[in-house]
Amino acid sequence: MRVLIVEDEKDLANIIKMGLEEEGYIVDIANDGEEGLYMAENYPLDAILLDIMLPVMDGLTLLSTIRKKGIKTPVLLLTARDALMDKIEGLDTGADDYMTKPFEFTELVARLRSLIRRVGDAREAVLRIADMEINTASHEVTRGGEPIKLSAREYALLEYLAYNKGTVVSRTEIVEHIYHEDAEMDSNVVDVYINYLRKKIDKEPWTKLIHTIRGAGYILKEE
Ligand code: CA
Repeated sequence: MRVLIVEDEKDLANIIKMGLEEEGYIVDIANDGEEGLYMAENYPLDAILLDIMLPVMDGLTLLSTIRKKGIKTPVLLLTARDALMDKIEGLDTGADDYMTKPFEFTELVARLRSLIRRVGDAREAVLRIADMEINTASHEVTRGGEPIKLSAREYALLEYLAYNKGTVVSRTEIVEHIYHEDAEMDSNVVDVYINYLRKKIDKEPWTKLIHTIRGAGYILKEE
């Protein structure tokens, strides 16, 4: 999952980025509103953490601009303490949630997961497909109750497919959402990771959940 942080306090932005990367997210940072707007409009994002007080363009202007353009990426607003009007205005402008600074990182991560889940139409932390369970909080995966050990990259791939279950995702979308641009990932690498994943989650005698759609990509679904 790919997250944009729009925050002019560089130390704070970097701390959040490092923490989110440890959780397996791909993170982009914008240090002012204009840069943030460009990225929000052009990057394939799964969520945006948006500070309100920003140079060049403030967060609420950025938010209303992208909403007017029909961009529905979930937005978690970061507001200054006690700025009640900002919160109300932010929610009216189209923010999905807000957090007051200073905040606990663990709460930020939980709220972020919840936002991304709502878009994927899942209300619980555990995603279920057939007899497979994916715990998005602990990153534990089981099939038929049997634990399956996945590498961080395999997990990220499975989670992305699971959030989009029943929908075909292209190799390009997979690269853009779960592998960093500068990690020398091309779409062939996706096939390699799909094969690793299949050996672990789709082995005999389990029913096949990852399906290849020729010329289009992959889909996670029950037969
Ligand atoms: Ca700020």
